[in-house]
Amino acid sequence: SKMIIGLTGGIGSGKTAVSDRFAAHGISIVDADVISRVVVEPGRPALEKIRDHFGTDILLEDGNLDRAQLRQKIFSSPTDKQWLESLLHPLIAEETLRQLSEAQSPYAIYVSPLLVESNQKGFCQRLLVVDVSEETQLQRTIARDSNDAEQVKRIIASQASREQRLALADDIIVNDSDLKSLHEKVDAMHQSYLALV
Ligand code: ATP
Repeated sequence: SKMIIGLTGGIGSGKTAVSDRFAAHGISIVDADVISRVVVEPGRPALEKIRDHFGTDILLEDGNLDRAQLRQKIFSSPTDKQWLESLLHPLIAEETLRQLSEAQSPYAIYVSPLLVESNQKGFCQRLLVVDVSEETQLQRTIARDSNDAEQVKRIIASQASREQRLALADDIIVNDSDLKSLHEKVDAMHQSYLALV
């Protein structure tokens, strides 16, 4: 069946910049962040179960999930966190496999910030890591989100280390220069993937 390339990297490493460039070559992108939002959209059974569990207050006025409030609740209750994970994990896996099976391109990219942390390597044939120094991660994330440095540092510390990611990588794109250079690296990687399928 179709070759699936897992794409990961720390916060602000350039996963989106890389996946956008693969998409420009017509490669199907399946994004774990997008899927984790899709499965709790209004009308989906998971949202009803979340409302029954936490109460109507967990919804915003427009009927969407109050994600910030949910994060707070599971942060303070390991039981609720476990309940939520056992609800969502199978739904996320199902939606991910559905989207990947619909991919029309010669190979597909599955992009997830937590590929290494959450052991999702299983359904990927190869792992592509976007690598940058922590200093660059920090600078680019702050410039993008106007987050404060301490907050970004905490997120970096909570994620897998560079070394942990690189140890599992089949392919590495070092995103330490400008976007033009990044695009050239992605273009070359795309050609090498086409040669593998
Ligand atoms: P997150 O995990 O937070 O979603 P990400 O890994 O998807 O981040 P991007 O959003 O692609 O990272 O990149 C972070 C920021 O750095 C963006 O504003 C992006 O435009 C910028 N950026 C990425 N690569 C480069 C580069 N080579 N040169 C300059 N800016 C870059």
